[in-house]
Amino acid sequence: MTCPRCEGELGEHPARSRMSVEREERICADCGLDEAVRESSELAPIPPNEWPVRRSA
Ligand SMILES: [Zn+2]
Repeated sequence: MTCPRCEGELGEHPARSRMSVEREERICADCGLDEAVRESSELAPIPPNEWPVRRSA
């Protein structure tokens, strides 16, 4: 399984993306954390049509 948001490993504990409530898209824990950080920073979330996101790390 790969994460649709970053194309990395989905891992054993996928998160549910805030961006895709209807589809219940599963994203990896790192992406779930990234969405939470963006939300807490009042940044707009990255919409699914701009996935996969290239991570700089
Ligand atoms: Zn991911």
